[in-house]
Amino acid sequence: PSAASSALLKGLNPEQLAAVTAPPGPWLILAGAGSGKTRVLTTRIAWLLQTGQVSPAGVMAVTFTNKAAKEMLTRLSAMLPINTRGMWIGTFHGLCNRFLRAHYKVAGLPQAFQILDTQDQLSAVKRVIKGLKYDEEKVIPKQTTWFIANAKEDGLRPKDIVPRDELGRLQLSVYEAYEDQCTREGVVDFAELMLRTYELMRDHAELRAHYQRRFRHILVDEFQDTNKLQYAWLKMFSGRPEETGTSVLAVGDDDQSIYAFRGAQVGNMADFEREFKVPGVIKLEQNYRSFGHILDSANALIANNSRRLGKTLRTDAGAGEPLRIYEASSDYAEAQWLVDEARQMHREGQAFKEIAVLYRSNAQSRVIESALFNAGVPYKVYGGLRFFERAEVKHALAYLRLIENPNDDTSFLRVVNFPARGIGARTVELLQDAARSSARSLAQSVTAVPGKSGANLQAFVAKVDAMREATRGLTLRHIIEHVVEASGLADFYRTEKEGQERLENLAELVNAAEAFVTQEGFGKDAVALPVDEPVGTIAQGLPAAVARVDTLPDAETGEIISPLVAFLTHAALEAGDNQAQAGQDAVQLMTVHAAKGLEFDNVFITGLEEALFPHENSMKDGDSLEEERRLMYVAITRARKRLHISFCQTRMLHGQTRYNLKSRFLEELPEESLKWLTPRNQGFGSGYARQYQEAWASGRGLGSMVGAGAQPWRGGGANAGSSGYAGKARGEDDFKDLTAPLPSRMAQAKSESGFKVGQSVFHGKFGEGVILTLEGQGPDARVQVNFGRHGTKWLMLSVAKLTPIE
Ligand code: ATP
Ligand code: MG
Repeated sequence: PSAASSALLKGLNPEQLAAVTAPPGPWLILAGAGSGKTRVLTTRIAWLLQTGQVSPAGVMAVTFTNKAAKEMLTRLSAMLPINTRGMWIGTFHGLCNRFLRAHYKVAGLPQAFQILDTQDQLSAVKRVIKGLKYDEEKVIPKQTTWFIANAKEDGLRPKDIVPRDELGRLQLSVYEAYEDQCTREGVVDFAELMLRTYELMRDHAELRAHYQRRFRHILVDEFQDTNKLQYAWLKMFSGRPEETGTSVLAVGDDDQSIYAFRGAQVGNMADFEREFKVPGVIKLEQNYRSFGHILDSANALIANNSRRLGKTLRTDAGAGEPLRIYEASSDYAEAQWLVDEARQMHREGQAFKEIAVLYRSNAQSRVIESALFNAGVPYKVYGGLRFFERAEVKHALAYLRLIENPNDDTSFLRVVNFPARGIGARTVELLQDAARSSARSLAQSVTAVPGKSGANLQAFVAKVDAMREATRGLTLRHIIEHVVEASGLADFYRTEKEGQERLENLAELVNAAEAFVTQEGFGKDAVALPVDEPVGTIAQGLPAAVARVDTLPDAETGEIISPLVAFLTHAALEAGDNQAQAGQDAVQLMTVHAAKGLEFDNVFITGLEEALFPHENSMKDGDSLEEERRLMYVAITRARKRLHISFCQTRMLHGQTRYNLKSRFLEELPEESLKWLTPRNQGFGSGYARQYQEAWASGRGLGSMVGAGAQPWRGGGANAGSSGYAGKARGEDDFKDLTAPLPSRMAQAKSESGFKVGQSVFHGKFGEGVILTLEGQGPDARVQVNFGRHGTKWLMLSVAKLTPIE
């Protein structure tokens, strides 16, 4: 090897070196966290390029998150002076998007097709259900959305599905109508990106031959999390290796499989080994990431899982510091503690960006965010509160999308009366009926609505048309600025009481666009080309400097993509990366799922509480519990130097107060690796708690830990109604079996009234009972009490005369 390539290979251990320089062929690396899988994958790409075995265009590398893809590109350009644009490095969705943009005609898509994010998709499905006049209680929109996504992930179109029952039949017809609607509007959802690409490859021999010849090396990171369709998709691009000569390298870790709930199949590893005739699985056993206590904890935890392929991990690094464990009285106290620790570390010289805060559920981030904000600590949230999903940003994007495609009904409906312009629900319904009966888009049907309302609708369409005219030839930044003003959004938020923050977010959208344009190589002065006009004529009319940078041709097909279309795509695909803040020194907040593959010097894992982590939906069967444990394994193994774990006695979540037990996962960590910052609570293993756990396992007892929220200021906003976490909220059923008094240990939190959850009380009329929930404060304080045969009652504490019995 040349001097340069040996520099590349320096420092690799013998197993890694062998993997990096392995001859072409099917290879599978199966190895634990932090053993250098991603590093091997990236170095192999660099080595192949540098030794001239492949050109950038011959490489395809698939990762799971945008952040990981970006990281890989950064690492590659650091290793080699190459133009990474030509390489297909990205997420499955990102690569599919690229493929479909290049082949939009064959794919039957408009060139400027838009991508529906999860929110859009749900509202689109709701519209279909409404159009079919189905009962939303029966054909539940969210469930139906899952039905459609699952079908697509199994590669099934409506014609391939035989409904099992009445509900299945109804859902199937929603799927059918939803597909028509998407086609009409020129939009695709995430699963469609994958399936459409797959089908195109399957059905077009020439295309297939082209790509199978083109990609000499396909490399897949986090292979354990691929689902059925993704695996089939890969096989489509690689072809049968003995025929195409394509070399495939898959790397993964069965202990980090955390997407089984979304249909990922660890079994793909075994299938890959067999179908690709992998000569021998490569193992890496040295962990380079974490200190001993961290690694020991991860190993001890995961040893509790039964279905494992079995791997070992060791480290040469010292033991390092023990894990710091903290029990907080509430989620507020937890956040405050975390902020204090983070600031202390920062004073000691740690960069904020080397501090990560991980949580199981997005909803947990709010309290932490506000504590960081109040303390003036910079932070950045990945996923969850996605920037591009904020209402005001979505409104602005909807106008932008209508400029690109007036027939985008989802966007039309979002802003037709926002800001308010006198178009009521009744009018919209009339319009939708008219559109449906003529199979045209909403914009095309406005003339069908009579009278004043019809005139209002026409005025709206005219307004969008005017924006389209006015922004022709402008740079992306100016387009957005114009639209924010001309749509009335800016004025609306200027007059709104809490509009300031929203205005700032709209300004941030401009920043994000600017950053995007620069990063994508459009150049700051890039202008959006109207897609319906041939490129030549437009370009001729522009100053040369502008014409040169105005569009981004696809590296392969030369197809033109305007910055606006590219940006709108980016907004839909990008999971909440706030471009403008990238690179800033800020504490990193994200879910454990989003942290996969990443590493930080200091990690906080918060909310180690039963029903939160492990998640309540997972506690009924062993398989999902094992998946939760793998998730915890992923969380622990993100830390290089220092790991903090915390849990709370009470927490407000989705507007409900929860009284929590600490997570069983804490009990699975080796005592000698832990340092308790708060007195260690003996509770978990004792009789009552154990009984309680069993109640959990059998599906009872849930309600006893959940109370309805009494603090509306915490309940609403971004977290309202999200995720299934509160799905089994307070309801009679949850309490039916609850005959025995609750152990008082679970009610560590005593309310100011002196009562606590689990306490036995006496009431003049209803007799003896057990307190299930405490809510509100002062004169507002309420309790929920289970009075046995008198049932469960809510009482106003200031009125009801309750006496404690102990
Ligand atoms: P995960 O399963 O979490 O994705 P991984 O197996 O992909 O982990 P990497 O992220 O590639 O692991 O590597 C973990 C850390 O160890 C990185 O910081 C990497 O640079 C470092 N590392 C890997 N191999 C070596 C080596 N031979 N010498 C020094 N550091 C290494
Ligand atoms: Mg990795």
